[in-house]
Amino acid sequence: MIVKESAYPTTAWHALPDGRLQCDVCPRGCALHDGQRGLCFVRRRLGEQIVLTTYGRSSGFCVDPIEKKPLNHFLPGSSVLSFGTAGCNLTCRFCQNWDISKSREVDTLADQATPERIARVADELGCRSVAFTYNDPTIFYEYARDTAIACHERGIRAVSVTAGYISAGARAEMYEHMDAANVDLKAFTDDFYHRVCSARLQPVLETIEYLVTQTPVWVELTTLLIPGLNDSDEEIDQMTSWVVDRLGPDVPMHFTAFHPDFKMRDRPPTPPATLTRARGLALRNGVRYAYTGNVHDRGGGSTVCPSCGITLVERDWYTLSGYRITDDGHCEACGARIAGVFDGPAGTWGARRLPVRLADPVGAAGR
Ligand code: SF4
Repeated sequence: MIVKESAYPTTAWHALPDGRLQCDVCPRGCALHDGQRGLCFVRRRLGEQIVLTTYGRSSGFCVDPIEKKPLNHFLPGSSVLSFGTAGCNLTCRFCQNWDISKSREVDTLADQATPERIARVADELGCRSVAFTYNDPTIFYEYARDTAIACHERGIRAVSVTAGYISAGARAEMYEHMDAANVDLKAFTDDFYHRVCSARLQPVLETIEYLVTQTPVWVELTTLLIPGLNDSDEEIDQMTSWVVDRLGPDVPMHFTAFHPDFKMRDRPPTPPATLTRARGLALRNGVRYAYTGNVHDRGGGSTVCPSCGITLVERDWYTLSGYRITDDGHCEACGARIAGVFDGPAGTWGARRLPVRLADPVGAAGR
């Protein structure tokens, strides 16, 4: 099924003296003539306004383990209804979801879904949260915001998986309604952001600091380590020191493995030893919860009590075992509070992935 574009009127823009309209959603500040689209492709000027063309449109839905976002300290073991739209406001050469994020065709938007329908389907499927992922929700934040509001009415939480490249106004409006975020901290040099993603580091740091220090949103960070580009001891040392100094020791960090993709096929996959080295540096600098990701590594994927040192959760990729956290988030052995959002026993979703077509009866597809 091919779904036509929508034209949702937006408010995050202003008129320039030369007659163009400037989008205020992200630091790019695209200035548009009538009919033009921004770099993200999905925000477009139509007449005297900028519209969002993907409101109510999705590239597909899937029930995932929450650990896949990755979030290791947010309702562990639970399932999350995940979806994305099309387009992106970064141009990462290594993009692992480029078929969605770089889409210039609305025919990737095969599913039509109102916020209320998404919330109802998540409820019926037993998901504890809905995640805006696969491409960056910054560019469709009005749709994500309204979906989060609809989810909250049913007791379902909302999760943003994002690069954090968003302006202060849109950020406040969007994250007022989010419960958790995994933010990509793609590197710790402006040079990397500039050369590899056509972006800047500072706005990302500002978003992360804002979320952790000014909002109740639960935040975890992810860094995809690319051999020779962002994996030096010096850079990881600076990044993890910044995290502890500015955010505190309780923000979990995930160091994940790169696989050659999109426009970056000349680099080898990340050796597991690089992830282990980064995790070690983070722990040494005071990060309490540091993880390796996209690899089988029981030690690097497990959660250890920072107080008494027992293993609280053993993880092998997305499969949990040996769970020793109380229903309200304390170490079963010593009673120390474990940072995160814990609400009842661990879920039992496991590593499954269940594609769902919202046009079909709930859960009918993918079985
Ligand atoms: S959200 Fe899109 S249109 Fe708006 S400034 Fe960013 S890239 Fe440009």
